[in-house]
Amino acid sequence: MDRLEQVKIVESIFRNNLELAKALVAKIREFTLKVIEIYGGDFKFKIMDFCGTHEWTITHYGIRSLIPKVIELVAGPGCPVCVTPSYFVEESIKLSLEGITVYTYGDVYKLRTIRPVKGATSLSEAKALGGNVKIVSSILDAVKDAKEHRRESIFVGIGFETVAPGYAHLIIKDMLPSNLKLLSLVKLTPPAMFYSIDILREKPIEPPIMGVIAPGHVSTITGAKAWAPVAENYGIPVVIAGFEPIDVLIAIAEILRQLTRGEAKVVIEYARAISWHGDLRAQSTIYKAFKTADDAWRGIGFLPKSGLRVRESYRKVDAFEEYGIRDLDPETWKYDLPPGCRCAEVIIGKIKPPQCPLFMKKCTPLNPIGPCMVSVEGTCAIWARFGAGGLAEEVAKDIGLYQG
Ligand code: SF4
Repeated sequence: MDRLEQVKIVESIFRNNLELAKALVAKIREFTLKVIEIYGGDFKFKIMDFCGTHEWTITHYGIRSLIPKVIELVAGPGCPVCVTPSYFVEESIKLSLEGITVYTYGDVYKLRTIRPVKGATSLSEAKALGGNVKIVSSILDAVKDAKEHRRESIFVGIGFETVAPGYAHLIIKDMLPSNLKLLSLVKLTPPAMFYSIDILREKPIEPPIMGVIAPGHVSTITGAKAWAPVAENYGIPVVIAGFEPIDVLIAIAEILRQLTRGEAKVVIEYARAISWHGDLRAQSTIYKAFKTADDAWRGIGFLPKSGLRVRESYRKVDAFEEYGIRDLDPETWKYDLPPGCRCAEVIIGKIKPPQCPLFMKKCTPLNPIGPCMVSVEGTCAIWARFGAGGLAEEVAKDIGLYQG
């Protein structure tokens, strides 16, 4: 079967399948009634998605309009741009204004810092002030350009487990040119998931998290086993879902099915891409090049063993070493969100974007104040573009799927 045929099958089953969607919505309603029977009449609960792309699917396709209102679908910390500390962007701005070429992804380019550096509060402003900043779509573009230009340069390496094997491969195969250093700001997602669940559990007045839709992209690398502690330690059902609307509906139905039976298991819905153990070769490549480190998450603080830094044996490619960039530690990290921005609560599913007083007033996709409004994977940016309710609810009503 060629790629085009595969895409057609996925589209027909998982995207353009009204009959299956209707059956799943009915199942979700049936299971929800049983859950309410078990937990009591006023029971409300949260299901958390952990991937910006799942939040995109949920919001874009109006899935909140299709499920009973007692279930609150909330987004977790699934956007690496949102959680990259301001300090590292400030350091990158500084280097760019000193003539070092800074390669960055397009969304990091727009990320605002909390402190200005020589008048610049983003890499885009640094470029306007004469800084040497180039947008690339992957580290390979940076490698190619750095080889051509031979100028001192860094690549701002943000991302989750999905990008780490690519960076690691270039390091251990000695494929980075000597004039290009990697600023590894890669973050590991399981510690953030455990942190978010812990925080929400500390506040018993909030609806509890009763299910997790675990990230699909990250799980291709980590495998489903990475999320086993959520089921085993917290007793919360986990489903690793694909990114089409039907995938997400199946995940919600499976979480509810487990709740009706008092189960808490990790289930792979995204079987077309995920295995239990993940990509063992990629995992081994990552840990040859990188070591884990306690890492700062923007607006949140330090999470143990939640980041990747280049191993000492590869220090010649490490931008921290080359440019004397001090890593953050709990003593030097300072709260780094702009006044009024509530991203720290948005990214752990404590509040929804419209609960931030700046949402779509001072803070918009064209003029992002906080980090969650910058990337297409940021929860505030997704809600700003597609909203929740509104047109999605109207369409759901039209086709008889609305769950008011
Ligand atoms: Fe932060 Fe803007 Fe989101 Fe408010 S709307 S939480 S300021 S990103």
